[in-house]
Amino acid sequence: MKDLNIITEQTVAVPDAPYQARHYIDGVFQDNEDGRVSDRISPSHGVLVSQAALGGEAETAKAIAAARTAFDDGRWSRLSGKERAAVLTKVADLIEANEERLAVLETLESGKPISQSRGECGGAADLWRYAASLARSSHGQSHNALGDDMLGVVLKEPIGVVSIITPWNFPFWILSQKLPFALAAGCTCVVKPSEMTPSTTAMLGDLLTEAGVPAGVCNIVLGYGTPVGSMMSTHEDVDMVSFTGSTAVGKHITAAAGNTLKKVALELGGKNPQVIFPDADLESAADAVTFGVYFNVGQCCNSSSRIIVHEDIADDFVARVVELSRHVAFGNPLNPDTQVGAIVTQDHQAKIDGYVQAAKAEGAEVCLGGGVLNVDGVGAQFYQPTVIRGVTADMAIVREEVFGPVLVVQTFSTIEEAIALANDSDYGLSAGVWSDNIHTCLAFSRRAQAGTIWTNTWMDGFPEVTFGGVKQSGQGREIGQYGFDEFLEVKSLVMRVGASRAPWVKVP
Ligand code: NAP
Ligand code: MG
Repeated sequence: MKDLNIITEQTVAVPDAPYQARHYIDGVFQDNEDGRVSDRISPSHGVLVSQAALGGEAETAKAIAAARTAFDDGRWSRLSGKERAAVLTKVADLIEANEERLAVLETLESGKPISQSRGECGGAADLWRYAASLARSSHGQSHNALGDDMLGVVLKEPIGVVSIITPWNFPFWILSQKLPFALAAGCTCVVKPSEMTPSTTAMLGDLLTEAGVPAGVCNIVLGYGTPVGSMMSTHEDVDMVSFTGSTAVGKHITAAAGNTLKKVALELGGKNPQVIFPDADLESAADAVTFGVYFNVGQCCNSSSRIIVHEDIADDFVARVVELSRHVAFGNPLNPDTQVGAIVTQDHQAKIDGYVQAAKAEGAEVCLGGGVLNVDGVGAQFYQPTVIRGVTADMAIVREEVFGPVLVVQTFSTIEEAIALANDSDYGLSAGVWSDNIHTCLAFSRRAQAGTIWTNTWMDGFPEVTFGGVKQSGQGREIGQYGFDEFLEVKSLVMRVGASRAPWVKVP
């Protein structure tokens, strides 16, 4: 396609041999009992990146048993917060020391640009450090006003064995939004990455051992959702499932977990709107919209896949976003200048294109892109930056998660209309508002149905600020104090002190 910024040069080398990803169970790296592996071919480079053990019920059962034993014997759960924090801080240091090794595999398996992988793998160390700090500040409540003879204490305790199931779009980052917080709380874990991106999760096993995480405290099983993930969500020895992925699988896990009433925390999809008022800093808003839709090729739960822009400025604003889109560096992920890389699988690319072609057939106007992108040297598993307007609120491209570099434009005239359009969704993960008027921003923020509202920015995040969705975007929270609390159970102690209790039995 003409007039796009396509990067074809490659400056970072592909490793000489594929990475061999193995299960990490009870502190030991191991192959599958039957020797089965799955191959991951890079979506951008076509090479065999990794071969991962393809776990079955035997490996999953072993990992759950190891986590259960490790939790129950207290080798981790009964350490002091100070001791757990020291180990988690070491993991953070080791993550930073191994950033490049992790980043190259993350890029080749997922298709994301190397600069982004470096940021996500190395940057994840901050999540580990923050979680470590929480390990030392866990506390409950005391009730000292129950009368002279009574004292009530509410304790927080680790919930137990946690299953952690993660997707392919941010493999190492999402793992780090969950695992260090669960470990900081004193839980033991069984982790399953997506079979498309197993390597950086498997590599973490080495770092955990080196940092001194005791055997059995974190177990990693590689393999498919069925049977590994489903066993992790149904097994009676698992106390909680923490899942990030699609809404469809999230619903399935909730139903499957119901049989044993384990706790389920879900981070699911989104159809996240940014609302742009005429008084906003429109240059900054256009840049943030461009970032919000193309970051990670739109394969992002927080993708701002739709904008709701005031009708008076819509034409100019869309023209500005189209112009900026032409400057975004799409192309070879193994070049540090590349900003947007490959699509994870051919099937997913076809799904993205299907939404665009259906919208066109229904009369939507394609202002930019709308097709597959061929990048010299790395093939055609890329998609053009795409901007679509002239849509109606009932179209699939407006309602469903496209998970690609595709922006849809809706317009409004009053704030009431903007809020109604923003909330007209089954999802409620995040939303944004752009205005120079604080009253407008607050009015929108209070009434928007979403777990996170960004005002005059997009996708800024901090380990301290909790994250999660409402409606069908999920349940429970991740990161921050609230995210940490998800991994804690509450126990009440009611104690008589001093005088004995008044007898219940009347002895004549
Ligand atoms: P997915 O298909 O739902 O898979 C997520 C994970 O669940 C994978 O490890 C998958 O294993 C596993 N799984 C599949 N079926 C399962 C089952 N029956 N029981 C237990 N586990 C099962 O999602 P994805 O395609 O990898 O990721 C894209 C989706 O994730 C998007 O919808 C996106 O919005 C969402 N997402 C949400 C957030 C958030 O924080 N809200 C963040 C990132 C992504 P296999 O695929 O290996 O078989
Ligand atoms: Mg899947």
